[in-house]
Amino acid sequence: MPALTRAEAVERRRLLEVRSSTVDLDLTQGDEVFGSVAVIRFACSSPGASSFVDVKPQTLLRAVLNGRELDPAALVDGRLPLDGLAAENELLVEATMAYSRTGEGMHRFVDPADGEAYVYTQAFLDDGPRFFASFDQPDLKAAYEVSVTAPEGWTVVGNGLVTRQEGGRWEFAPTPPISNYLVAIVAGPLFTVRSEHDGIPLGLHCRRSLGPYLEADAEEMLDTTRRSFDHYHRVFDQRYPFDSYDQCFVPEFNAGAMENPGCVTFRDEFVFRSAVTDTEREERAIVIAHEMAHMWFGDLVTMRWWDDLWLNESFAEYLAYTVVAESTRFSGAWTGFAAARKSWGYDADQRPSTHPVAPESVDDTAEALQNFDGISYSKGASALRQLVAWLGEEAFYKGVNSYFQQHAFGNAALADLLQALAASSGRDVHGWAERWLRTTGVDTLRVEPARSDEARADEAQADGTWAGGADGGQEGVGRGGARIVHSSVDGQLRPLLITAATYDRAADGHLVLRARRPLDLPAEPDHELDSVGAGDPDLLLLNDTDLGFVKIRLDDRSWRTVSDSLGGIPEELARAVLWGAARDMVRDGDLDPQSYLELVAAHLPGETSAHLIQSVLGFARSTLAEQYLTPEQRPAGLGLLAGVGRDLLRRTEGGPDDVTGLRLLAVRSLIAASSTPAELAVLQSWREEGGVPGGPELDPELSWQLLLRLCVLGAAGEDEIAAELVRDTSATGQEGAARCRAALPDQQAKDAAWEALFDSDLSNYLIAATSQGFWQPEQAELLGDRPQRYFEAVVGTAQRRGPAVGRLLARYAFPAYHATEQTVGAAEACLARTDLTAALRRGLVDQVDDLRRAVRARQAVAK
Ligand SMILES: [Zn+2]
Repeated sequence: MPALTRAEAVERRRLLEVRSSTVDLDLTQGDEVFGSVAVIRFACSSPGASSFVDVKPQTLLRAVLNGRELDPAALVDGRLPLDGLAAENELLVEATMAYSRTGEGMHRFVDPADGEAYVYTQAFLDDGPRFFASFDQPDLKAAYEVSVTAPEGWTVVGNGLVTRQEGGRWEFAPTPPISNYLVAIVAGPLFTVRSEHDGIPLGLHCRRSLGPYLEADAEEMLDTTRRSFDHYHRVFDQRYPFDSYDQCFVPEFNAGAMENPGCVTFRDEFVFRSAVTDTEREERAIVIAHEMAHMWFGDLVTMRWWDDLWLNESFAEYLAYTVVAESTRFSGAWTGFAAARKSWGYDADQRPSTHPVAPESVDDTAEALQNFDGISYSKGASALRQLVAWLGEEAFYKGVNSYFQQHAFGNAALADLLQALAASSGRDVHGWAERWLRTTGVDTLRVEPARSDEARADEAQADGTWAGGADGGQEGVGRGGARIVHSSVDGQLRPLLITAATYDRAADGHLVLRARRPLDLPAEPDHELDSVGAGDPDLLLLNDTDLGFVKIRLDDRSWRTVSDSLGGIPEELARAVLWGAARDMVRDGDLDPQSYLELVAAHLPGETSAHLIQSVLGFARSTLAEQYLTPEQRPAGLGLLAGVGRDLLRRTEGGPDDVTGLRLLAVRSLIAASSTPAELAVLQSWREEGGVPGGPELDPELSWQLLLRLCVLGAAGEDEIAAELVRDTSATGQEGAARCRAALPDQQAKDAAWEALFDSDLSNYLIAATSQGFWQPEQAELLGDRPQRYFEAVVGTAQRRGPAVGRLLARYAFPAYHATEQTVGAAEACLARTDLTAALRRGLVDQVDDLRRAVRARQAVAK
């Protein structure tokens, strides 16, 4: 189906003004289809003109424009032409729609735990017409009046307050004007917890089989919701603009969550069935606060077209971290941002697919869908953090409030926000936006000896101390300090407002903060740093509070200090910045993977931050061990990681309650790295005993993870999988089994998984699970030439199954472990084809770029 272009949207907006829209859905038509009747009342500024309505039905039953029957056969590629429009029009579209299995449109799910069926909608970005006819673009807002007929025993949740009528009929109060991609319903025999806060009715909903888990955590989630409302009501003049706030946890959801006004949908893994770490609870709080921010940024004021997606996502991301850090118990949320979320932005900004935070123009909806990436979220939020630091909170919120006031229930663009912020602050916000929002790429700050010392340093073959003093002592005093070289790949620089800190080594090996100072760095290639403190510090760390979106490189002396004493730096955030720098260096080929692993072995066993343990071990296991280490190096790498897991396990033995989940992280990491017969014997013993001595017990998630590792290594098979499925009959049990079966080291299992991936109609979640199990470096021989065959198979499947599955197959089914020139070549040949869908192409472009980095890392090691 052709994507809606920006030009088409502009023209349709010029012509049309929607007055109101009613949507009537009938969910009692069986397992495959449902009924949909939409009536749209709209004005046309040029009577006699033509336009079109978007509708993607299984069967278009009837369309009537101003009393005139339209020919259903005129529907082509999801567009029904509307000719001879009057000044005021009424359009009725009646259709039979198909349920989806991919999380797009109206998704239907049968819970394997109890056989109950559930449906939910996902209209974003252009799937609204898969459940009701509409003008599918963000700037044709309408008041929606939705009604639903549902089976007996179901609950239906939607955008507004609902009245339940006779005969399973549910009628929702009309919404304020909203974009069509924000209309939502969730229905089924839901489990519900209700509450209220500050006059706003609150609801939490999930499928019945998850009820006990939702109930157990409901107070925590409601507490986050209440605190977030209070925070937003404190900083925004406009109160929450809708009549109620329901949060629905739905199965097989593609994104983290979706900000439908008053009816937010979340992936239901956020209803925890198994033990989780505190960082995972924090992540859930952040998603809750993120979606609430969208009630203002996105729902109250909506971007006019998708090129201003950042007006939704960057703000929601920035505000969520701010709210959670300031108003909930997760005060270290920004450390989580530094340790994990930011790398998503850095990585995205260094790929060929990068784009400005606010692109000048996004041509169509297919392109827009690809921009839901680390740029729009993580980099955008970092840029906003810079902006707030520069303008000050007061001027920032004053501008934001005037923007809300001017555009409430309407649409806006970048220029509107900049104007409001410029007016409130009196600063050159437009100039700032040109530098930060209209460019691509991440800057690097590199510490070098001060210019005046350079010659001397060269002559003396100085040992690279940052101030040029070879003895690391008094010579540095008052001698001009260090020089910061500010660079980027394309030479375009961005101004930076950051801090810098200096540390000295104490007698016990710990580092002691000597000084921290703000640095206001203009967009220039050289900065003199002249007053960091007297004498050479052992460590000079730029961006130590992580205010800037920038890569940092240390001078040699500082790097030596980090190698010896990274774990001895008192500030968790500074350690996060340094782990991030080490990660960058490995990806850029400036640090060999082996040295990174040595840092892990030296400093992680003593680490106390769950944020850091999780992100560092995650990178070491999934990127280094999986892709960067050669097959010859891999066993030693895994052995080292298993050793770190054992160290962490020992350290958390018999200690206080594992409130932050360090022990859980240790167990997960040890399972993932176990390879040797002795390590497998330990895993087998845990399995037999149903837990790890001293805890934790093997709950469903740990059980499946452990079984997966045993399956990969041929130490368990179909019998064990079947037995586990008897114990865990849930949907995640089904996914665990699919993952394990795809991971079995035999050709028959691989053939079956291959067919499931490329020739089936499996749901999005089962596709993801099967993909995750399929490729295992341990099975390279068995997998044979499948890495090459992947590129032949994936193109047709992505065409057949649409963007959601295309994205999953690129993300999880890509043979990333096979980091060879041959795989790069096969991928490039695939990208040269012209029949790739936009979603698959974007996914492959990113994977190939990562693969090239892995190949380079292996070659660097081989040298
Ligand atoms: Zn969002």
